[in-house]
Parts: sequence; C-alpha cells; structure tokens
Amino acid sequence: TPRVRFAPSPTGYLHIGGARTALFNWLWARRTGGKFVLRIEDTDRERSTQQAVEAIIEAMKWLGLDWDEGPDIGGPHPPYFQTQRLDLYKRHAEKLVAEGKAYACYCTREELDVQRKKAETEKRQFRYPGTCRNKPYDPSKPHVIRFRVPEVGATSWNDLVKGVISTPHDTLQDEVILRGDGMPLYNFGAVVDDITMEINLVGRGDDHVNNTARQILMYQALGYPVPTFAHFPMILGADKARLSKRHGATSVTAYRDMGYLPEAVVNYLVRLGWSHGDQELFTRDELIQKFDLKDVGATAGVFNPEKMAWVNHEWLKKLPDDELARKALPYFRAAELPAEDDAKLRHVCAVARERAKTFGEYVQQFRYFYAPPQLDPKAKDKFLTAETKPVLQAIRDGIAALPALETAALEKLFHGTAEARGVGLGKVAQPVRVALTGGTASPGMYDVVQILGKDETLKRLDDALR
Ligand code: GLU
Repeated sequence: TPRVRFAPSPTGYLHIGGARTALFNWLWARRTGGKFVLRIEDTDRERSTQQAVEAIIEAMKWLGLDWDEGPDIGGPHPPYFQTQRLDLYKRHAEKLVAEGKAYACYCTREELDVQRKKAETEKRQFRYPGTCRNKPYDPSKPHVIRFRVPEVGATSWNDLVKGVISTPHDTLQDEVILRGDGMPLYNFGAVVDDITMEINLVGRGDDHVNNTARQILMYQALGYPVPTFAHFPMILGADKARLSKRHGATSVTAYRDMGYLPEAVVNYLVRLGWSHGDQELFTRDELIQKFDLKDVGATAGVFNPEKMAWVNHEWLKKLPDDELARKALPYFRAAELPAEDDAKLRHVCAVARERAKTFGEYVQQFRYFYAPPQLDPKAKDKFLTAETKPVLQAIRDGIAALPALETAALEKLFHGTAEARGVGLGKVAQPVRVALTGGTASPGMYDVVQILGKDETLKRLDDALR
C-alpha cells in the first residue's frame, strides 16, 4: 500500500505552499487507500519551536488533512519527531562507516572556514576536498560523519511530475550526514526516516529536486529500495517570484481568520498545480475520487487572491442559511459585535450571501447591523439635508405606525411617500439608507429595516433628523 508523508520543519506557521504539499500527499493516500504520515523535522534546534508544531497541527486539522500516524497519535514507527530518533540516525551512519560508505571527518570548523574564504576570494564554489576520506575511524576524536559520493557517473530517477532527472556525481560533494552532537543533516535524517517509516512515495516541493540524487545514493548505500519521487512546482506570485509575504497572506490560518472555509482553501490549493478538465469546484469526496499525482502539472501555479476569494464565495453560497449564520458568528464576535445565532444573524447572512466573499467581508460590510453606523461625511452632506428631512420624517412616522415590518407594508410606505412628494423612489430610499447604514450602498431598504428592527430603525432616523 502507498505510504506517503508530510515532513514539515517547525520553524513557523503552515505556509500555503506547505499546505498544498500536504494536501497532495493526503489526497493520494486517501485516493489509494494508503497511509499518510506526519513527521516533524525539528533538527534545527535553534529555529524549531513547540509553538510552530502546534500551529502546523492546528492548521492541518482545520484543513481537514488528517494523518494516520504522527506525533500526537503515534503509529507503528514512532517517534514522529526527528530529535527523538537520534539513535536511529547513529545506527545507520555507523553501518555506512563500517562499510566504507561514509567516513569520519576531523576537519575543524576553522579549517573549513579558511578553505571556504579562499574559495570565495577565488570566486569558485567551495567543495569539501575529501581531506579525511581515507583516514582511519577514531571515534574518540571530535568528528562529523560524511557520506562518500561516487566520483564518476550520475544518478537519475523518473520523477512522477517532472519526468527523468539526472544529476552528475561531480556536481555533488561528500556532505555531512551526522553532526558531532549526533544531529542528522536534512538529507540523511529524511532518508533514514523514510526508510524506517516505510515511505514508498515521496511527494514534496521542487525546491528539493537538488537533494534527490544525494538521497537516492543514500538509499542505495543503506541497501533499501528507492521510493518514487514526485516534486511539485512551487507556488508563485503574480510577478512569477516564489510566493512570499509581499504577495499577501501566506499562512493557512490567516485565511481562516479572514473568513475562508477550509473546503474553499483546499479547493483553491488543489487547483494550483492540478486540474481535472476545466472543473473549478470540487468537494473533498470528489477530489479523493479524481485526484491523481499523474495529473499534477510540471509548471508552477500562480497564486491569485481574487480567484481564491471567488472560490470561497462559491462555497459560502452553497451553505444553508442556518449553517452560514453559525459559521459567520465567530467572526462577528471576534470583531466585538454583539451578534447571536438567531433570526437576525440569519437575515444578515442572507443579504450578505451574494454580496460578500469571505466572513471577514461580512463583518466589514455589515457591521452597522450590530453597531452604530459610521456616517460617511460625503453621503451625509449629500443626503441628510434640510431638503430630505421631510422625507425622513415621513418614513419615520410611517414606520412608527406600522404594526409589523412586513415587506408589503414597507413597500407601500416607501412608494406612497415617493408618490406623495412627487419624487422617484431613490429620493426616498437613499436618505433613509444613509441614515440607517451610514453609506450609500447597502442591501435593499426593506431588508435593512427588518434586520435593524423597529426601535433601532426609529432611533437612527431620529438621530439623522436631529
Ligand atoms: N522538512 C523538509 C521541508 O520542510 C521536508 C522535505 C521533504 O519532504 O523531504 O522542506
């Protein structure tokens, strides 16, 4: 059975690009009935934090990417933190040393720094010159372990996404696989873990293409079958540079906080690099049925925030009224607006449904239903004038006299007022709109009056008349 993994380094939040890597792996596992493993690559002790581990787990859970084995739930190949697997790396490194496939290097940092500086001034790439290649192993002396790379030939693999890739060995060097303190370097740690966790398909960002030949050499040296590799193109910004903060929010939870649905984020991310005809919207189940790593394109997807908002809007529009309101509620609360899960909020959401693409926009556009309107000065000067006062007064008195705020009754009142004054309906509705919402754009007046209720409507009209 396919066994895939997502192996984040916990040095920060879950990035949109990392989430897409996780998603592709997760979909592949779910599609094939395989296993999805979460492994935390925390060997960079300085930059790794428990907070980041929690943030990544939280974001993955929010996206609904559940794992079959991982740090919080365990599994058959524990532990799932690299810093807790040091004995495994040591054993495997020692095996390589014993077989002459790796060796102890006693060069000091200072010695290597001198060589590095020299290479720099001579404007050439520093490559470890193999100083310790043939020295006998003396574990009592401080050392690191280096992997012995073949001097001639090349290593190639058939990448599921990119096709055949070949790396000549003379572009590689004898890299450090284990530090003096027992900490593995990335390539070695990942290989030992992928071997011991029985991973047979490695799907990851194509920023790792340069590591793959080196890793394959390590599989071969350790005597294990080489997994299949699939390298996903990076996500780019509109300017074709790698997606970063200057293109907008890049953390998954930022989208949650802006009021995106996880279904929509998943739907948008999967389309950055994968397609199924020209279908845009997919449910999770549909994705599980249709996703195939073979259909992941070799060209980079360009992140388009408007498109992402559009996808979210489509997903929001699908939600039934009560669910829409229930999901919107926390966003109003987070903005300290006194919303409740009630008929009022359902009505607010019903008018927001076509007009706003995220719950963040719901709050931004419709906060006046829960807080005093912020009067737009221009709208005020134009619509709340001596001339419009009689209109406002007529509507105010009419509403005060209505037994209930039914649409038909409101219609009659607004139309009747317009006719009585010999003006168009807009000349009535617009001043009322400004008085009730603070601005000149809003949902229909009858909805606004009904949502605000009689007392609040009268209060706002009175304020405008003062
Ligand atoms: N920890 C590595 C990263 O976050 C994992 C790369 C891999 O999947 O092999 O880039």
